Amino acid sequence: MLGLPADEVLVAGEWRRGAGAPIRTVDPATGRTLATVHAASVDEVAEAARGAARAAADPRWRTLLPHRRAQLLHRVADAIDTAAEHLASLQTADTGKALTETRALVASAAGTFRYTAAALETAEETLTPSRGDCLTMSVYEPIGVIGAINPWNSPVASDAQKLAPALAGGNAVLLKPAEWTPLVSLALGRLITRVLAELDLPTGLLSILPGRGSVVGDAIVKDPHIGKVVFTGGTDTGRTIARTAAGKLMPVSLELGGKSPTIVLADADIEQALAGVMFGIFSSSGQSCIAGSRLFVAREVYDTFVGELVERVGTLRVGPGTDPDTQVAPLVHHKHRDSVAAYVDLAREEGATVRCGGSVPPGAAYSEGAYYLPTVLDGLDNSSRTCQEEIFGPVLVALPFDDEDDLVRTANDSVYGLACGIWTRDHRAAWRIARRIDAGTVWINTYKQFSIATPFGGMKDSGLGREKGRDGIRAYQRQKSLYWGMSDTPLAWAN
Ligand code: NAD
Repeated sequence: MLGLPADEVLVAGEWRRGAGAPIRTVDPATGRTLATVHAASVDEVAEAARGAARAAADPRWRTLLPHRRAQLLHRVADAIDTAAEHLASLQTADTGKALTETRALVASAAGTFRYTAAALETAEETLTPSRGDCLTMSVYEPIGVIGAINPWNSPVASDAQKLAPALAGGNAVLLKPAEWTPLVSLALGRLITRVLAELDLPTGLLSILPGRGSVVGDAIVKDPHIGKVVFTGGTDTGRTIARTAAGKLMPVSLELGGKSPTIVLADADIEQALAGVMFGIFSSSGQSCIAGSRLFVAREVYDTFVGELVERVGTLRVGPGTDPDTQVAPLVHHKHRDSVAAYVDLAREEGATVRCGGSVPPGAAYSEGAYYLPTVLDGLDNSSRTCQEEIFGPVLVALPFDDEDDLVRTANDSVYGLACGIWTRDHRAAWRIARRIDAGTVWINTYKQFSIATPFGGMKDSGLGREKGRDGIRAYQRQKSLYWGMSDTPLAWAN
């Protein structure tokens, strides 16, 4: 077992008690304190960035052949597998998520390291044909030091999605986990530094720097050694980071919020659609950027579909993440639960009918935890704040639509463009709608399914850039073109 990484942060390969303000992390199922982590200070961010720049330039890393970097990633994947149960339990304790889900997230983190290793081993340098007496060649080089900033909803998976391609690309990384959930990132840091040491690679390649976003996150983005920031989190924070990055002319990748439409056409397989719509919004208690939070149902089947949905949502099992029967676990934090509850109050003021849920669950078993009942609302217009703003909780708004044009116009009437689900037996209609919807990912007769081989990212205010896929590593590299003159003749002035 790794033990609870209670009060140490990782500064350029060195574990120490952080000099920043302490952060208390809480078990959302009970409200009890799990650990107090001494956050990194702004000075420690600068120290980590300097150490990372040194590690990135260290010949042991800079000249390491890609298949040896791939070996590092494979070893990290093996270490994650070995520690899987511990990592899953830690993430359940810190985020409240069901163990069934955190186990899957840990497995996906190991898979991300393995896929990235395989992509790295088989990636080719681009070699372009010669031009006259020049051999031309385009090579990919590391950016140097990457700043990676993550939210609290799926830390182990989001950490892997940044750390694996950043290291594969030959970089050093400063990772900042979210204030509420630093524990699993610190545990992952222990695993990776151990593997780096075993392979005699510079341990300064990795720093894990918990702390407040406005302090530690901001210091990472502004540090002159950071060559790129990869960020997952809220759209407002993404915009703030992009503004700073513009000042430095620094590239950024932004994975931001969503308010994704799930669409049920009149001919849909109703059983499949009901299960998919419920999974799409209520798994992870709705704390997912891709949650299908706006449900559009063809008017002719609206009443029957929503009636049946409400009945089934009422039977979902709400409980602690450690209970294998739990379907809807507590939210990440009591403050976040209160923000979700405030949105449902707002919906009521906006004229919504609460079809089910709409409160914390009654009973002593739920009194200490950050629980909220899965909630279905209707009677709202898509222009309401409830339909426009990301709630990031177990709250679904149902809206009827009349025809395809009405549907596409209303579904696209959102600042976000992250994901979409379409339930229908008509493959032509699915194709037409999928091509007209503003979304980085569209699922047809399924939802929330992922492949590490498939690029992921948002349109509009949902983000900039793509993660995953074979090109995922390229987002962490810079391209350099070389022209190699082969001619014996001196260059002429004109060509
Ligand atoms: P958040 O934006 O508040 O915080 C995300 C991270 O940014 C945290 O680590 C935070 O400390 C840090 N941060 C905050 N202010 C900062 C600043 N000024 N400079 C640098 N870093 C700063 O988001 P959150 O509440 O932790 O997460 C929820 C949000 O994340 C939702 O909007 C959700 O949709 C989004 N999200 C998006 C994806 C995606 O892939 N598109 C995935 C998961 C979550």
